Amino acid sequence: MENYEKLEKVGEGTYGKVYKAKEKSTGQVVALKKTRLEMDEEGVPPTALREVSLLQMLSQSIYIVRLLKVEHVDKTPKNNNHHPSAAADHPPPPSKPLLYLVFEYLDTDLKKYIDTYRKGPNPRPLPPTLIQSFLFQLCMGVAHCHSHGVLHRDLKPQNLLLDQQKGILKIADLGLGRAFTVPLKSYTHEIVTLWYRAPEVLLGSTHYSTGVDMWSVGCIFAEMARRQALFPGDSEFQQLLNIFKVLGTPTEEQWPGVTSLRDWHVYPRWEPQTLARAVPSLGPEGVDLLSKMLKYNPADRISAKAALDHPYFDTLDKSQY
Ligand code: AMP
Repeated sequence: MENYEKLEKVGEGTYGKVYKAKEKSTGQVVALKKTRLEMDEEGVPPTALREVSLLQMLSQSIYIVRLLKVEHVDKTPKNNNHHPSAAADHPPPPSKPLLYLVFEYLDTDLKKYIDTYRKGPNPRPLPPTLIQSFLFQLCMGVAHCHSHGVLHRDLKPQNLLLDQQKGILKIADLGLGRAFTVPLKSYTHEIVTLWYRAPEVLLGSTHYSTGVDMWSVGCIFAEMARRQALFPGDSEFQQLLNIFKVLGTPTEEQWPGVTSLRDWHVYPRWEPQTLARAVPSLGPEGVDLLSKMLKYNPADRISAKAALDHPYFDTLDKSQY
């Protein structure tokens, strides 16, 4: 890692700190992500290596943050002990190599970007054409992952990085969900956000699929339009209630099997609200697309590929993408 000069800490992800850094030999600015994945005596677990090479392959898409390099670091502490006898009593701790992922650097993420429209000296809505463009790029990235059989599982505005100047959106933190299993708390004990989590995951379904990402895409779409989260829950139970209060308590007719899911309980019966009320700035096509992303039954949820053909995008100049 001597080849990199750390410039500043830019974020704390689920798996570790993210630094802005400069590659000394080329001057290229990169994002360095130290993973918590520590190698054992056998080296890097093969599942993680598979994950990393998958990530490298997927990140060829312009809608995915490019993984430039993987660096292994041997963090064996230097033995500064000048007393040989003492050293014999206290052998040096075993070496603890780490894995650094080197990504292209992007200047902001969607969460920070939405905040600049919500807070600050000039609060204003995001331009509708920008929401349309970001959502299109997000669906392109998700469609790319899903076509390779990869689920993201933790899509959220913090994980969507932006090149503000070029108006490009890229998905970050991809694929790590399997080798590194998404924990309930991050390594800093911050609660991992539940706001974008699909109801089947919250209800303890064990075999979930691409629909989990499309649910998150819907929540992110709504958040761009509202400049605040659609379902901000602070526990799994509250998260479900937030969803049910807007979309109505799900029924067996809508979603066969829902009442048999592991964490299903008897909930109050809320009637569905008019979705347009939650996203007043979206036109009818936008509301229609959103409603298809937020279908309760994962099998009924629109796919990323189908979303790209939805009339909401008819006014977008797709030749640029
Ligand atoms: P993550 O672990 O991907 O959730 O990253 C945590 C935070 O670090 C993000 O919300 C970003 O603000 C920042 N970050 C992650 N990757 C990059 C990158 N490639 N370029 C710039 N900032 C990044």
